[in-house]
Amino acid sequence: MKYYILFGPPGAGKGTHAGAIAEKHNLKHISTGELLRAEIAAGTELGSKAKAIIAAGGLVPDEVVEGMIENAFNTISGVDGFLLDGFPRTLPQADALGKIIAARGEELTGVVSIMIPDEVIRERIAHRASVEGRADDASDAVISHRIDTYHAQTEPLIDYYKAAGKYHEVCGYPGSIEEVRDRVLALVDEL
Ligand code: ADP
Repeated sequence: MKYYILFGPPGAGKGTHAGAIAEKHNLKHISTGELLRAEIAAGTELGSKAKAIIAAGGLVPDEVVEGMIENAFNTISGVDGFLLDGFPRTLPQADALGKIIAARGEELTGVVSIMIPDEVIRERIAHRASVEGRADDASDAVISHRIDTYHAQTEPLIDYYKAAGKYHEVCGYPGSIEEVRDRVLALVDEL
């Protein structure tokens, strides 16, 4: 099985390009953000705990998302691998992922990172707010908190995966959606 991490700041375009990558390589796209929003919509206990954290732009506890990923790996079949979107987002999550994959006797295929500057993060999220109506996209304070959380907790994963020889990056800006998609697909083809 292949295990790809689709990495990048909020608004980099991970969700936009995930479908094309997954389709081309017969991967299951797993977005922890989407899974969490589905739990909220279904009104589950997990969803009700996650709701306030997500609305404030924080991160839900590591164990929660780690459990979701492990569950997905154990229950999904008929694909050649997984495309993780929005996970891992902290160093403990990265360690947990390493252990989960190792326990399956396999290894991480690679990290595909889409990088954009902070100003573009704001523009993209503001635009997405008008299209998708996500509560956590609506307020400047929440967006700022997500950008800060990204720099403090998620950005250190770049060095973590560089040290492991697994980190690969494309520019998510400038360029049209099609141009960025072509860069991402070309990179994944090489891994
Ligand atoms: P974005 O596209 O803006 O990065 P996501 O849909 O990936 O947003 O995630 C939305 C929210 O869900 C995050 O701000 C966070 O609160 C929560 N979330 C998603 N993935 C994780 C994770 N791996 N660990 C902790 N919280 C997460």
